[in-house]
Amino acid sequence: MESYSWTIGFSATPFAWRKDILQTFHRSHCGIEKTKANAPTTVPWPGMAKHIEDMVSCCENVLRYQSRQTKEPMHIREIPLLPWQIVASDVLEHKNQNYDIIRCLNEIFSRHGCPQTLIADNAPYNSREMRKYATPQH
Ligand SMILES: [Zn+2]
Repeated sequence: MESYSWTIGFSATPFAWRKDILQTFHRSHCGIEKTKANAPTTVPWPGMAKHIEDMVSCCENVLRYQSRQTKEPMHIREIPLLPWQIVASDVLEHKNQNYDIIRCLNEIFSRHGCPQTLIADNAPYNSREMRKYATPQH
């Protein structure tokens, strides 16, 4: 009488599940090497490394992040001579909630004074309301 034994692992993973499993390794939209590092080192299905490379190289979030990283040159700014002379600001989204930039800046500037220069990226800083807010009132 013959006896059989099987090792159950990823090599037995149905094709339909593989995409979902790959996405768990890539849940933070990291790059190819980090995604591979998140994958188990034992019993991958044949060709899993190539599947990871294909998935990550097509990921819109990774492509968007990479293109943003390569397009923006580093800006060298002047070194301020006084405290609070130049203030940099950026928008923060917390728990899917956006904050009123002008109200936030008002709270900070009313406490510490207005800076000579406020540095910020684009939207919403280039809005009409923000330009009006940033124009000195005499
Ligand atoms: Zn991704």
